[in-house]
Amino acid sequence: MHFYPQALYIHYPQEKVEGKLYEYRCQFCKKSTTEVNGKLENHDVNCQYRKQHTYLEIED
Ligand SMILES: [Zn+2]
Repeated sequence: MHFYPQALYIHYPQEKVEGKLYEYRCQFCKKSTTEVNGKLENHDVNCQYRKQHTYLEIED
């Protein structure tokens, strides 16, 4: 059994990186999957996916 200390956010929409065979990136903020590394905070601050999953920062 293996537990991660934090939830991994790996289900964001991805697209292929142009010209790179095995590289993918976030469809919204264009950060590569290796850059994001499964962490929400590694997405761009303005990333739509990050915003959708950052409930604490939602203002009323
Ligand atoms: Zn993103």
